[in-house]
Amino acid sequence: MRNGTNILAVFGSTGSIGCNTLEVVRRHPEHFRVRYLTGNSNADLLIAQVREFRPAAVAVTDPAAESAVRDAVGDQTEILSGTDALTQLAGRDDYDTMVSSLVGFAGLLPTVTAIRAGKNIALANKETLVVAGEIITGLLKERDVHLLPIDSEHSAILQCIVGEPGHSVARIVLTASGGPFRGRTAGEIADVTPAAALQHPNWSMGSKITIDSATLMNKGLEVIEAHWLFGVDASAIDVVVHPQSIIHSMVEFSDGSVKAQLGVPDMKIPIHYALTWPDRIAADYERLNLADVGTLTFEQPDLETFSCLRLAYQALEEGGTAPACLNAANEVAVAAFLRGDLSFPGIAQLIDDSLQHVPTLPAEEIDSVVDIDRQAREHAAASLTRLKTLT
Ligand code: NAD
Ligand code: MG
Repeated sequence: MRNGTNILAVFGSTGSIGCNTLEVVRRHPEHFRVRYLTGNSNADLLIAQVREFRPAAVAVTDPAAESAVRDAVGDQTEILSGTDALTQLAGRDDYDTMVSSLVGFAGLLPTVTAIRAGKNIALANKETLVVAGEIITGLLKERDVHLLPIDSEHSAILQCIVGEPGHSVARIVLTASGGPFRGRTAGEIADVTPAAALQHPNWSMGSKITIDSATLMNKGLEVIEAHWLFGVDASAIDVVVHPQSIIHSMVEFSDGSVKAQLGVPDMKIPIHYALTWPDRIAADYERLNLADVGTLTFEQPDLETFSCLRLAYQALEEGGTAPACLNAANEVAVAAFLRGDLSFPGIAQLIDDSLQHVPTLPAEEIDSVVDIDRQAREHAAASLTRLKTLT
């Protein structure tokens, strides 16, 4: 923080979380300033963001987008490109907080670089903690930096445990909307299309996490994320389906008391909290009116039909690089489903097959995680080709 202003590097600024973060900045210019932005292929949006927020530099990973951005705003800002552009920006010393909002495994190395450089992290990119939780938690201690979750469930848990003794947390209860196919049988989800899976009932998000929400893999990744963030075993992390997405998660304490955090489903609220923690700074996001909501309901998740959640628990119990394998196979499977190359139930099958065939190693070094990520992608891609030739 410089003079009370949190200077931000927003990684993945053109995405759903990136845009919500910039809206938080837009509404509170006295508290936040943007120093760096990064984007992949959406050149028009990145150009507009550069013109509005005047960052010192931007990293553009897609080559076609890079030349468009350079042509439009190359005289106003430094432009970095190429494979190490993200880590180069992440390692710079003139910002306070990285908003880690890239999607998928691509977020890992920039986030690790920022922690090594002593930056606080506002983390949306849950995949980073899923694949390298042990390494990240070790690095945070070593560098004495804070990692604040943006994910609404984990922001809720953090807000529930503030001021409580660590030993008093007995159980974490993550809420899940259940996604667009809640209540359907295995037969009823066999042929669902990408367009149907992309219709999330409560949240507007990037396509990868929206499909993860439909398969319940998103909740599985969040169970693993919660394990690393709060040091709670898998056996003490429950999931309950709560279709209204008003209770963002709950903590049960050792005396039987349960705390929950509530709010309208708006990612600006947990982003704002991650960027202002441990303070609370007033904001005028939409307020919750429980009388308007009327009813809050809860049900058990269906782990048979939505087996991705079961696979995530299994990978967490197995430990080591198993969650990295789960994540890589899921990324391959979701991309294939979105292209129309894999059925919806095929996503879980491809992940299950990868978990069975890719070896599990200790996950104490980044190199092991990167290596298993590559192996799992290769394995899943080969299984996908086999499946396609069979059909
Ligand atoms: P998104 O697809 O909308 O945005 C992703 C961003 O990453 C974009 O800026 C894109 O340009 C960039 N990007 C994508 N692939 C890249 C690559 N290979 N190299 C460099 N940049 C790349 O995704 P999102 O919905 O904003 O989600 C981002 C992260 O936040 C995910 O990990 C997701 O699980 C998590 N998250 C999202 C939400 C939400 O409401 N969207 C909620 C909780 C957590
Ligand atoms: Mg979430």
